[in-house]
Amino acid sequence: MLKNKMFVPALLIAGLLSLHTVAQAQKKIKTIIVDAGHGGKDGGAHGGYEGGLGSWEKNITLAISNKLVAQLQKDLPDVKIVPTRTTDIYQSPPEKANIANQNHGDLFICIHADAVQLQTGRRQIGTKSIVRQDVIYIGKGKKRKKKYGKKYNIVVPVYDYYKIGSARTGTSIWLFAAHKTNDKLDAIEKGGQLGEDDDQIDSTADSTFNNIDFNDTRETRMLAQVYAKRYQEKSIELADLINDEIAATNRPALGVYQRQKGIWVLQATNMPAVLIETGFITNYNDERYLNSDAGQQEIAECIARAIKQYKEQVENSKTVAVPATTTPDPAPANVTDSTTKDSTKTQ
Ligand SMILES: [Zn+2]
Repeated sequence: MLKNKMFVPALLIAGLLSLHTVAQAQKKIKTIIVDAGHGGKDGGAHGGYEGGLGSWEKNITLAISNKLVAQLQKDLPDVKIVPTRTTDIYQSPPEKANIANQNHGDLFICIHADAVQLQTGRRQIGTKSIVRQDVIYIGKGKKRKKKYGKKYNIVVPVYDYYKIGSARTGTSIWLFAAHKTNDKLDAIEKGGQLGEDDDQIDSTADSTFNNIDFNDTRETRMLAQVYAKRYQEKSIELADLINDEIAATNRPALGVYQRQKGIWVLQATNMPAVLIETGFITNYNDERYLNSDAGQQEIAECIARAIKQYKEQVENSKTVAVPATTTPDPAPANVTDSTTKDSTKTQ
């Protein structure tokens, strides 16, 4: 809470300027964060079905991430590519999000592998003989007595139980959930980054995870909403491009989705963000594909090609990709206007 009313407009303008530069930074893709999902003690999904390789998601995501980083470094030499991890280490979701935010990423790419709940199957592997004995009761009430009959043998089947690999196969791309936008707004407000040419307002912001107290003012929230919408639209743009690249291979491209419960790292990052479920570790063919050098390379190249196209689209577009009809333009004039209005109200 701010006690000094005179301070409100100055802080707001500083805050809005810093948000404004977030959008400007989006005009040029300078930094891309690649996150290999899971790691260390968090193995992620497991290919633990009959005939499966028993592989762990964390190793697949790391292998694809390392290949993607190398591919992007080759294809986009002017862009800084930051992997969240390059070895088998554990990182909590906030740690992953912090790496993205502190490096001022313009794009956050999370690599994962999908899984379904495996069903248990059984097959008869033989028979065995067991002894049975009938039990009968004689009498009623307190006089009721248990009496054993004759012993006899019966033959019963012996079963082997196993997990059945899933039929589901293919790659899907996930976005932050629209109804979780408040989290994204928080990330944008807390992580509003500064461009290189904004030294004059640098004193108002921590250069990493900046701590400007935006006080949830309506202007800031509204502007943050504009950016959340932009990030959402840009995320969809990139997700569609990745899906198209996957579809061009002979594997199923399952499309672009939003998870009902949201995806924490996608919500907590102050940038467009997509999560790629590269394939099903619980599917026989997908698991082999995901563990193969050729498969990992093919997926990495699909994602890299999509990112390259996305970068060209973003950098060559004249305006930031938000339809002017549906979203207020955060021009400095409007900002000053609404700031003045609101600060008058609060006084
Ligand atoms: Zn995962």
